[in-house]
Amino acid sequence: MISVTEWRERLESERCSDMLSELLERIGESKLNAYVTLSEDAIKTAELYDREELKGKLAGIPVAVKDCITTRDLKTTCSSRILHNYIPPFDAHVVERLREEGAIIIGKTNMDEFAMGTTTETSYFGVVRNPHDLERVAGGSSGGSGAVIAGDEAVLSLGSDTGGSIRCPASFCGVVGLKGTYGLVSRYGLIPYANSLEQIGPMASNVHDLILLFEVVAGKDERDSTNAGRGFRFEKKEKRLRVGIIKEMTAKDDVMTKFNESVELIESLGHSAGEVSMKSFKYALAAYYVIAMSEASSNLARYDGVRYGHALDQLDSWTRYFSRVRAEGFGDEVKRRIMLGSYALSAGYFGKYYLKALKVRTLVKNDFQRAFKDYDVLISPTMPSTAFRIGELADPLTMYKMDVNTVPINLAGIPALSLPIGFANSLPVGLQVMGDYFSENLILNFALEIEENLDRGEAFKQI
Ligand code: GLN
Repeated sequence: MISVTEWRERLESERCSDMLSELLERIGESKLNAYVTLSEDAIKTAELYDREELKGKLAGIPVAVKDCITTRDLKTTCSSRILHNYIPPFDAHVVERLREEGAIIIGKTNMDEFAMGTTTETSYFGVVRNPHDLERVAGGSSGGSGAVIAGDEAVLSLGSDTGGSIRCPASFCGVVGLKGTYGLVSRYGLIPYANSLEQIGPMASNVHDLILLFEVVAGKDERDSTNAGRGFRFEKKEKRLRVGIIKEMTAKDDVMTKFNESVELIESLGHSAGEVSMKSFKYALAAYYVIAMSEASSNLARYDGVRYGHALDQLDSWTRYFSRVRAEGFGDEVKRRIMLGSYALSAGYFGKYYLKALKVRTLVKNDFQRAFKDYDVLISPTMPSTAFRIGELADPLTMYKMDVNTVPINLAGIPALSLPIGFANSLPVGLQVMGDYFSENLILNFALEIEENLDRGEAFKQI
């Protein structure tokens, strides 16, 4: 993996445009399928750096952007056929911030179609392969954004997380990923899947780099009505924490072995650990899928082939036109969710499903609030297993169940990150660290301390 520090050190003696050409060459030969589109302006931006005309916190650093985040004049497809030729006329807020800070936007990363999935297998452009094992998935839905970091195809990347889509690929690819408190990063320009749950967030090879990117993208933006109106500045703090291990968030034995090792490390650093039970989590996964699909069904109504993307030449009736555009433009998983979401919201069923799910959402929030009275941070394995084989999760329900440890965080809107803690059977394992609203500074300090103290030789010995 390439850290910001390493990239900057090379920049002292090499030309940025040469380094970028080398990176693009590597991407050209790559088997990962992590990018949907590469930016033709990247080299030009690198040349600006060489002429000392590019300034900012990310000057000359190659950053990859998930393909559901709009980029002006650069194709943004959501990995869907229905948007396969969509070129946005505007930048997302986070992309504006990247440009302001001198980043080189190298390209757009592959993802599950409209971010619906856990493996990037629902992408119209094909699956993303895991750099640690090409026969395995990189996770999802931000599979491309995870793989580019682990596969040396970018230094930093942005993903989005509705129910785990940053943390899952971070865990499967052995990189760091953070979903911040709901509202801290503007969603302006994030093509919506489920607005009330999702956030854009950073992915990187180490916690320092993650912090750097998070400081750039978090901040005030009036164009997103749910924006918290504040930014983020990291401050180094030494504090012994009360760490709660969530009983209901478990994993397969090989992952648990690594998880338990990291608990030992945490205790050896002087933090105290205890177990906490969250009763509402039994219903969290079901509630998440009802809410996410309901919001998706409403959000995706806009794709009618008139304003964006996939269109047809013939028009005999509007109804037939819309249904054909949508039948051809959306993949199976997206259609399944639109139908289930419409059903959950329909008269007669609304109270039975959607309202019930909202009530569970409140219970999940309450459980977290109760836990944060006794503990400063909460931890769990990020995913119940290591990366799956491509095609292994054949039916949708099995796939949905893999999100059991990540979705409660989005229901509550609290921040959580995934930190690599070693390998099980040669595949990366992630530790999920959760904190109360706006406690990013606390969880990032904690993650930094764990990262610094992980015995690389021991924890990562199975590479
Ligand atoms: N796997 C979850 C879903 O399909 C989460 C996806 C995401 O966070 N975008 O809804």
